[in-house]
Amino acid sequence: PATYQGRRVVVLGLARSGVSVAKVFHQLGADVVVNDKKERDLCPEADELTALGISVLCGYHPDDLVTEDTALLVKNPGIPYSAPPVAKAEELGVEIITEVEVAYWLSPAPIIGITGSNGKTTTTTWIGELLDAAGLKPIVAGNIGRPLCEAALEATEEQWIVAELSSFQLKGTDAFRPRVALLLNIAETHLDYHGDMDDYVNAKAKIFDNQTEEDVAVVNWDDPECRALSELLAARRFPFSLYERLEQGVYLEPPFSQDPEDTAPNASRHIVFRPEGGREEAIMPVDELGIPGRHNAANALAAIAACLAAGVAPELLAGPLRGFKGVEHRLEFVREVNGVNYYNDSKATNPAATTMSVRSLSAPIVLVAGGLDRGSDYMELVPLFRDRLKGLVALGETRGKLARVAELAGLASVETVEPSEDAESVLRQAVKKAAAMAEPGDIVLLSPACASWDMFPSYEQRGRIFKDSAHTL
Ligand code: ADP
Repeated sequence: PATYQGRRVVVLGLARSGVSVAKVFHQLGADVVVNDKKERDLCPEADELTALGISVLCGYHPDDLVTEDTALLVKNPGIPYSAPPVAKAEELGVEIITEVEVAYWLSPAPIIGITGSNGKTTTTTWIGELLDAAGLKPIVAGNIGRPLCEAALEATEEQWIVAELSSFQLKGTDAFRPRVALLLNIAETHLDYHGDMDDYVNAKAKIFDNQTEEDVAVVNWDDPECRALSELLAARRFPFSLYERLEQGVYLEPPFSQDPEDTAPNASRHIVFRPEGGREEAIMPVDELGIPGRHNAANALAAIAACLAAGVAPELLAGPLRGFKGVEHRLEFVREVNGVNYYNDSKATNPAATTMSVRSLSAPIVLVAGGLDRGSDYMELVPLFRDRLKGLVALGETRGKLARVAELAGLASVETVEPSEDAESVLRQAVKKAAAMAEPGDIVLLSPACASWDMFPSYEQRGRIFKDSAHTL
């Protein structure tokens, strides 16, 4: 990074990570220009940078922003490569990176990088807790909240940075080399941004690009794309699997069968690991994990693999694996009232996520669902509703469609809550109706299968109101 002294560095996008990057290069003596298309009054971070003497241009992309003598463009991961300044940089051969690359340059601490289509936040948080319990003082950062550059500046050589990484962030890396890299799974999402599946897979695979045999690659053996990719890696492979015994890696003994209904607790099913050339060792029974669901068992195996690769003693893992409470709004246990357990799964914004959550819970479920209408008819939910639900309370734009699905599934208890100006009271009414349907031993689950924006500014807000309603029942 020292080579940037006196040279023009353009920072595109003024989020917290942009601020952090701008300060880093300013300190290095670079001639930093920060640009954001948003109007100045929507860029509260600008003042802090201006005060430091960094030039900040808001409201438009100037034509002469990226010049022949620009040394580097650091772009916010969300800005597409088709945006004019990025396209210009590509045309001029200016290096284009994201904040992740800069953090890698700066960090004295080794990095555990976590990517994948689903489960990143859960696995990242879990690894953070496991390392913390082992006394390794991890710093959790990246896509999960705190900018990686801030973490890199604060870290010491003895710590670990645990970094949640999106494919958007990884696409803009060059030398980035995590000591431990995790690829959780690859689903067909985000194709709108990446254009095609190859581009998306390539961006995710960049997490492994600079690894050598001193590093470890944790890959999902059960995902065909991940498995195929892992054949090509230079790093030592430490895979995980729910369905197969592995020569080395983390797996179940005995493995799950492929039947998605095979989720019954099985005290004799253990999580085990086998080091290269070593003997199998047990970690704990899989049904004692702190959070339910087969997808979370996969996340646990990945987290265990990463921690073993980071040198954590296996006997330190079981405690925090049991104690993990999950991440807010993801199948989050709220409370028990009159023998009924309430779960907040507001992050489930599509039918696939709701399906997985419902399948993760074993008691009869009264589902609270509905939200923004994106045109789907939700007919794929008919079998799930028929097999697993006791009742449905539907709200939001999709309430009619979901009530129809419930009728086709033959549910006896179906109610809808009509919209009102006061979205909060609509959700509170829905929780009351669900509570009235549930009997001791049942579960009331908010897992909307829809985005929140017809009623709420975010899924977080929706989840918080649900939890508050459950707490005031
Ligand atoms: P991300 O950070 O990748 O969005 P999260 O950990 O926030 O993932 O989980 C979001 C949702 O994704 C969960 O509520 C669950 O429905 C689903 N999910 C979590 N882990 C997995 C997994 N390993 N495989 C498939 N889906 C998962």
